[in-house]
Amino acid sequence: MAKIKGHISINIDNCKGCELCIVECPQDSLKMSEHINTQGYHYAVLVQDNCTGCTNCALVCPEAIITVYRESKNKTKKERVAVITNVTENITVNVS
Ligand code: SF4
Ligand code: SF4
Repeated sequence: MAKIKGHISINIDNCKGCELCIVECPQDSLKMSEHINTQGYHYAVLVQDNCTGCTNCALVCPEAIITVYRESKNKTKKERVAVITNVTENITVNVS
């Protein structure tokens, strides 16, 4: 069976550089940028095209700034599969 193709987006300006997402990524798809964001933190970036959309990074990110996508079966569009919102109040986790 072919591996699932995933992708993530990171709101880099809200990254605090904790590196949790990097530790939890089973694909080693992430690393810290040499650059800093507007808050003065090095931020996480996707550096390899091997993301499987497992959602680990989004689930551990304390800032809830990672959105995970998986390529749909017909490969015409990417489906959002994980997003965490309302971290300061209730936490909502949607994983499909
Ligand atoms: S979704 Fe999974 S494989 Fe993709 S970057 Fe996040 S932890 Fe790594
Ligand atoms: S877990 Fe979130 S805050 Fe921490 S480095 Fe990754 S993206 Fe940044």
